[in-house]
Amino acid sequence: MTSSFVGAFVDPTKLPLRATDRVMICVGRSNVGKSSFINALTKQTISRVSNTPGRTQTINLFRLGNNQVLIDLPGYGYAKHSKEQRGALEERIHETLLAMGERDAKICLITDSYVGLTELDQEMLAFLRTEMAPFAVLANKADKLNQKERSQQEKHYRSVLTEEETLIFCSAKTSVGFPQVQAWLTLDR
Ligand code: GDP
Repeated sequence: MTSSFVGAFVDPTKLPLRATDRVMICVGRSNVGKSSFINALTKQTISRVSNTPGRTQTINLFRLGNNQVLIDLPGYGYAKHSKEQRGALEERIHETLLAMGERDAKICLITDSYVGLTELDQEMLAFLRTEMAPFAVLANKADKLNQKERSQQEKHYRSVLTEEETLIFCSAKTSVGFPQVQAWLTLDR
């Protein structure tokens, strides 16, 4: 599978998508490892990994071959953004999710398993629940947890999620959990 970066966009209604495209979306708080996740998923250094959170504010589009498109949404919750910047980003994120929900997109809510579900993550979760598009909660950075911490965090995530909601512990660093992520996305390998 050869993936390519299509471009960075501001207007979610102007994404260059074909009618037959199967769309996947990555959404998550700034610095949870979204870029690393995309690189691990595509097995390519296709998305920028940064130590400076909050830099990516555009909607980034990747083609993963065979009509599979991955949309990388701007990271939310960066503390140094102004209230106006946050509002504009949130609007861009919500608008894209609403538009793509109609295309039956699969949404990955990427979170940092070491931190757990923050208030902002839970707000995003509430939004995703109202849209009824299929979504999975990914608990990334699972490599940072020892066995005891992992089981504590599993309990924490499960206390927030319903039994039916998909939860996958994974690591963009070690690729732990990626077979499950790929299976959920029904990705061609
Ligand atoms: P983004 O802002 O969500 O796109 O996050 P990045 O992919 O830029 O990653 C933010 C930081 O988290 C970087 O220092 C990454 O090296 C680190 N990181 C990302 N994924 C993992 C992971 O699975 N495990 C660990 N230990 N660190 C990770």
